[in-house]
Amino acid sequence: MSEWVTEAANGYGQTIEITRKIYEKQSKYQKIEIFDTVKLGRMLMLDGIIQFTDSDEFAYQEMMAHLPYYAHGNPERILVIGGGDGGVLRELAKHPEPQVLDLCDIDEEVIKAAKTYLPEMACGFDDPRVNIHIADGSAFIKEKEGYYDLVIVDSTDPGGPGAPLFGAEFYASLKKALRPGGVVGTQAESPWLLPEVVKNLIDAARSNFRYVDYAAISVPTYPTGMIGCCTASDTKNVAVPAAEPDDDIARKLRYYNRRVHEAAFAKPQFVAGMLGFES
Ligand code: SAM
Repeated sequence: MSEWVTEAANGYGQTIEITRKIYEKQSKYQKIEIFDTVKLGRMLMLDGIIQFTDSDEFAYQEMMAHLPYYAHGNPERILVIGGGDGGVLRELAKHPEPQVLDLCDIDEEVIKAAKTYLPEMACGFDDPRVNIHIADGSAFIKEKEGYYDLVIVDSTDPGGPGAPLFGAEFYASLKKALRPGGVVGTQAESPWLLPEVVKNLIDAARSNFRYVDYAAISVPTYPTGMIGCCTASDTKNVAVPAAEPDDDIARKLRYYNRRVHEAAFAKPQFVAGMLGFES
């Protein structure tokens, strides 16, 4: 008999056929579950919400990593907040130039589970430049000043431990943590499903940064089939890449390229109107 797992949140659901559950743990912060699915490969859920499936994770990880990376052009010091599955780190580690790859996740149990059961994501942790910090990202970033060139926020949704990563105070801390020319990229939800959340975080970014924009990423197993990346900087129009992948890196990418970078910022009329961008 077939077995199905349902993600249900915000009045919206999707159901995935699984072959087996391979891991379950209630950590201090969230319920961690890993499944093998019939069609989509391995799948990580936190508190019943799909974080990734093997079938389409490359779209999210590549865009969250390379879009802010190439918007900056040559970041030396990079911080990932959240990202405990290792996928965004895996993408950043493809670049030989950065000297610092810090990751701050609140939940070490996610990292442990990824290292054991999600080797294709967690391989990013093997890079010798990586330093792992276990802390609430909103507290960790408050202690930093003028240090990072790039901060990427790969967080869960605002309902759980990710809540402090969506407000204006957090964006003020992000700004303070950056070196001149720094760029931020944050997980920015779907305007179809959570228009208020998207609008509030764009407003929070705007109240702190000169250039703020919103890029769309096509990810079939996120609710509504897409998710956004909010990009922010005081010095750069992040919709225009300052550099692009060389042949070696381009060969390792399946979603990101220069044209996709630029096109991701094109907004349907209703998104431009809702978020106050020119259409
Ligand atoms: N790509 C995913 C998505 O948007 O569905 C996010 C994946 S990643 C596994 C999310 C990570 O954010 C989790 O490992 C979780 O522990 C971490 N996280 C949640 N709240 C956090 C906080 N306040 N500080 C640092 N990490 C946090």
